[in-house]
Amino acid sequence: MIQIHELTKSYSRGEEAIVACDVSALEISRGEQVALVGCSGCGKSTLLSMIAGLLPPDHGSLRVLDVELTALGESARDRFRAEHIGMVFQTFNLLQPFTALENVMLGSVFGKGGGRGLRKRATELLRGVGLADRMHHRPNEMSVGQAQRVAICRALINDPSLILADEPLGNQDRETGREVLQLLLDMAKEHNRTVVMVTHSPENAGQLERIVELAELRRAS
Ligand code: ADP
Ligand code: MG
Repeated sequence: MIQIHELTKSYSRGEEAIVACDVSALEISRGEQVALVGCSGCGKSTLLSMIAGLLPPDHGSLRVLDVELTALGESARDRFRAEHIGMVFQTFNLLQPFTALENVMLGSVFGKGGGRGLRKRATELLRGVGLADRMHHRPNEMSVGQAQRVAICRALINDPSLILADEPLGNQDRETGREVLQLLLDMAKEHNRTVVMVTHSPENAGQLERIVELAELRRAS
């Protein structure tokens, strides 16, 4: 599903170059559920953004679903992401004027089950995360944790084969976080979807099959 080789990303600030991410090798198989952990600032979000095709690497090889992402231009990467990847960001970017149900439906892209089927699926996803009674609430009429769960549903609406999540449970209480994650993992397993999730919670990391410590992937320099 994902093959990474000698991948680097740096930012320059004036004279100074900051190595944001440096990965010697990482392989993730289809259907695997991987927790990505490491200290703050070690490059977890940078790596996830590169895998999502949002951020072009400086050097190295990054294959996702057998496509070399570094060979694609921006619009091809955007199409690739829309078709194959569901993302949950640290800041979850819901659209304020729209209800929970509408926000989830708006995640849908062309050609993937429009109309009544879409509404039904969005409703089922929201029910699944305990928001049956918040379908028609707008983001500012929900708690942060509830809005975060809406964003998780939006990421799943297209049946993505790869789910990338950056601390998606940061605003949940312990019990809800564990439940929502388990639901996401069970749904992913059922459809053989791959999950890569950044988390600071050892408990949540332990719910995934494999834990990858980012610092241990660094190229020997
Ligand atoms: P993490 O998600 O593991 O906390 P990030 O991937 O967000 O870490 O950041 C990795 C490093 O890159 C950090 O040291 C951060 O300061 C730096 N960085 C991130 N984005 C930028 C940017 N736009 N310009 C300069 N440095 C950045
Ligand atoms: Mg981060």
